Amino acid sequence: MTPRPPVRMCARCERTTDAPVLVHEVHAATGPGFNVYACGECAASYPPAVDVLELLELAAAPVRRSPSRLTLRVYKVNSDGDVIEDRGEVEIVADDDDAHRLLSGG
Ligand SMILES: [Zn+2]
Repeated sequence: MTPRPPVRMCARCERTTDAPVLVHEVHAATGPGFNVYACGECAASYPPAVDVLELLELAAAPVRRSPSRLTLRVYKVNSDGDVIEDRGEVEIVADDDDAHRLLSGG
């Protein structure tokens, strides 16, 4: 008995093909992944493989908002409550990269 040629269904046009082209590997977190095949015709125009986990991360990512700001006033007071040293404002800017910059005013 001769081995059957590998027959796969094209993920794009959904026709079976005996010349499948691996166009995408799906990695599953909970078990073995699976492969996505396309026929030779579709494989040429298949979009580049995108890791599905990246898509999930993008979907789960919070909507980007404008940077949040927090302004602190830094000063010292003496025992009478009088301001004896004012170091001005410290503005903390949390931008999209979660990087923190300290902008010292005054
Ligand atoms: Zn196809």
